[in-house]
Amino acid sequence: MGAFDVLVVSQKCDQCGIVTDFRYQFKYGTPWQKQYVLGDRVDWEGNPNRWNGQPMPGLIAVDAEREACPNCQCEYEFSIVYIDDGMFIGAGRNGGRFNFGNDDYALPIGQYARLTVEDTK
Ligand SMILES: [Zn+2]
Repeated sequence: MGAFDVLVVSQKCDQCGIVTDFRYQFKYGTPWQKQYVLGDRVDWEGNPNRWNGQPMPGLIAVDAEREACPNCQCEYEFSIVYIDDGMFIGAGRNGGRFNFGNDDYALPIGQYARLTVEDTK
């Protein structure tokens, strides 16, 4: 229980229009209720016995779930946290772009996906 971390991103809700801190839960790295913001780096030291996935160079998409909007309660069950060379750079709706297998916490997505990151800021 509780074995996930959270990335907090200030974003505009596309349902109600409020700008607020959205919380994206994910299990990549060493998840244990840590809280990150954009610009932080993935912590691989926090719990060395419990790595989910591996450190990866370049741009990756991490399987995530966005918590409900605090204003209108809308939820995104399928969301993405974006990490570039180990640094959190964005988050947003998956929208069917990336398919994660049962054991995939993160996928390398390469240059192609840089465009998709732009809509997450
Ligand atoms: Zn909302």
